[in-house]
Amino acid sequence: MKMNNYYLELFEGRKNIIILPHILPDGDTIGSSIALFYALKKLEKRVYIILNDKLPSNLKFLNANSKIITTEDFEKLSIKPDLIITVDSSDTDRLGDRAYLLDLCSEVLNIDHHSTNTNYGKYNLVNSKAAACGEIIYELLKKLKIYIDKNIATALYVALSTDTGSFKYSNTTPLTLRIAADLIEKGIDFSFINTELYQNKPINKIKLLSDVLNSLELHFDGKLAVIYVTNDMLKKNKIDISDTDGIIEYARDIEGVNIAVLLKEFSDNTIKVSLRSKYDFDVSIIAKKFGGGGHKKAAGCTIYDTIDNAKNILLNTFRENFR
Ligand code: AMP
Ligand code: MN
Ligand code: MN
Repeated sequence: MKMNNYYLELFEGRKNIIILPHILPDGDTIGSSIALFYALKKLEKRVYIILNDKLPSNLKFLNANSKIITTEDFEKLSIKPDLIITVDSSDTDRLGDRAYLLDLCSEVLNIDHHSTNTNYGKYNLVNSKAAACGEIIYELLKKLKIYIDKNIATALYVALSTDTGSFKYSNTTPLTLRIAADLIEKGIDFSFINTELYQNKPINKIKLLSDVLNSLELHFDGKLAVIYVTNDMLKKNKIDISDTDGIIEYARDIEGVNIAVLLKEFSDNTIKVSLRSKYDFDVSIIAKKFGGGGHKKAAGCTIYDTIDNAKNILLNTFRENFR
């Protein structure tokens, strides 16, 4: 869908707007949602970011919790939304237990950058060339002529930086860097932001890492690496699953490894799978086979089985698709 004044009209006359980030939130979905929150407040909208999940601890500095309410809080308000915006969610499963909110209002704006997006919105602002949803929202705010202040710029920078691995993944384009440059020109403290995002890990996360690295297995002549995060490891190290972002990079970054698989035990028989590819292999194809999705080099899905079975099922699938 092309962006034009049509978007101005989309927001016109709508007072109550719900923003829905995806479950197990990351920097893109939260940064993008916060940026939208500030921007829509400037248009004098009543804005509600609704999420029941814990945020990763490295996003604390965004003060997102003060802007997020749970479904329970929202229900108490008895508000009828005029527009629902989903952010960074390729399908409605990514809304988890909040998917029912879509029944409150058919006016759904789906803002996303996954090539696997199912275009479930009434309005679909989906661009798989965008490195992050933050990029799409930056352009939307420009079209809406909303001034990007320091708060908005900080949130958008978080979105761009986290989804591009600090601007090093292949999804980073000249436009991504131009937008980042513009955000820096807004006076954001990008050195502080980077310290908060990447140099501030809870000690327990580092301790967990040591257990996770012990689970490392290499397959297919060292081309595929598998690591696990079990419930026991989380309990032992007193760390929440929301703080396991980035761990897969240790498996991906091994010399000779093309594909990394991280299996996280979300609960009994519910395994959240993260897939990463270093070169040409499209891991979103594998994720899709299990009802998930994502991008060519970063995708995910959920397998309802034990960790061991999930691993074997995945290895068999990779075996069939691996060259
Ligand atoms: P993650 O491994 O959770 O960091 O996710 C990597 C990429 O795959 C992100 O872009 C996610 O939005 C996407 N993704 C992860 N899990 C799923 C899923 N179950 N369904 C669709 N997309 C997913
Ligand atoms: Mn995301
Ligand atoms: Mn994203």
